Amino acid sequence: MSSVVVVGGGIAGVSTVAELRKKGYVGDLTLLSADPVPYDRPPLSKEYLAGGRDLDSIALQAPEWYVDQRISLVGGVVAVALRPDAGEVELSDGRVLTADRIVLATGGRAVRPSLGEIGSAIHVLREVGDADRLRTQLVPGARLLIVGAGLIGAEVASTARKLGAEVVLVDPLPVPLAAAVGIEVATWLHGLHADHGVGALTTTVETLLETPAGVAAQLTGEPGSREFDAVLLAVGLVPETALAEAAGLETSRGILVDAGQVTSHPSVLAVGDCARLRDHPRAEHWEAAQLDGARAAATILEAEPPPTTASWWWSDRYGLHVEGVGEMRSPDAEHQTVVRGVVGEPPFSVFTLRGERVIGAVAVDDPNAVRAARRMIDRGVDVRASDLADPGTDLRKLLRR
Ligand SMILES: Cc1cc2nc3c(=O)[nH]c(=O)nc-3n(C[C@H](O)[C@H](O)[C@H](O)COP(=O)(O)OP(=O)(O)OC[C@H]3O[C@@H](n4cnc5c(N)ncnc54)[C@H](O)[C@@H]3O)c2cc1C
Repeated sequence: MSSVVVVGGGIAGVSTVAELRKKGYVGDLTLLSADPVPYDRPPLSKEYLAGGRDLDSIALQAPEWYVDQRISLVGGVVAVALRPDAGEVELSDGRVLTADRIVLATGGRAVRPSLGEIGSAIHVLREVGDADRLRTQLVPGARLLIVGAGLIGAEVASTARKLGAEVVLVDPLPVPLAAAVGIEVATWLHGLHADHGVGALTTTVETLLETPAGVAAQLTGEPGSREFDAVLLAVGLVPETALAEAAGLETSRGILVDAGQVTSHPSVLAVGDCARLRDHPRAEHWEAAQLDGARAAATILEAEPPPTTASWWWSDRYGLHVEGVGEMRSPDAEHQTVVRGVVGEPPFSVFTLRGERVIGAVAVDDPNAVRAARRMIDRGVDVRASDLADPGTDLRKLLRR
């Protein structure tokens, strides 16, 4: 009987095994998870961090699901070596698993800049344990410094304010996230921090020093240091490629894969945040990881791959729901920006058009606009800017043109 071992129990790994079974794979299926039960990461900066959800409620699947699906979930161990020619995965408990195909779904680690030791007061946020540790410090009046105002830094600022903490958020960019959401929306979103009592500063952190009272942070351009009770470093992700590299697979800012998720070794596939499609950037979003799993399953089954679709993500802050799809560009000779509604007055959405083609959209509290934009991008539909801009236009009708 054929066999597949999936290394890594995040959304990419769980999606791979789920899709394999859904599409009729009857061979042996093993999912290796560093955690006893695979869980979802997006709530770690949102409801889970706020205390509104527990670990059971963020499990990607209930424990019985693995039994029902005849998936052997090997939890609490990690793979320590990979031998692609022999089809072997060596585990931290000494066992060696063999399989016809191995899928690497090892995700990534939070970047740990050498500013200060990660410890009881200096945090990163990637694992549930990170969220648990950070949450113990987010009490009313606690002083939190967040380094990095990207999606995760901004979400934690919002959650921390909800919990009553005093927050300072620093980023070297005056308008973080402009590349992802366009300058107009990014400016408004960043301004929300100040509206919610967050001290948003355009600067960098030079050093962090744990003291008996907390952490002394030296910010660039300030004469003395500032005291905080806790610091979160939210400055990005490093793909987890160590196993692949040691096994001689090709890596470059991720484990390099082809359009079917196959690495430089034909029996090894890679999915999710650890993988990078040659000549493309890594997506680092939840749905992209899930779709990678579906593509890997199709490759293993030699089945039709899922249709390609524009990359989609979401984020939540200060009670607002932000979604984006495709590519946002600043207006230039080729591109124009079309606003539907008024930026800053949700619901609204902003589209990037190249000629008459939508190539990207961002919406606040308007998921339907992003859903329609995605179909426009996927189908290559031409639209008139004036139709898009008119809030009275039913965007679904534009798809029929
Ligand atoms: C706090 C936070 C909030 C987020 N919010 C959003 C959001 O709102 N919207 C959005 O689109 N995306 C969001 N993301 C991004 C999204 O969660 C990730 O893109 C997604 O989790 C990637 O899934 P993955 O399975 O590739 O990797 P991961 O989720 O990192 O899973 C990889 C797993 O592999 C395990 N592993 C690593 N090495 C080994 C080994 N050698 N052996 C066994 N196991 C191993 C790891 O422990 C981990 O459990 C968020 C991420 C974080 C951290």
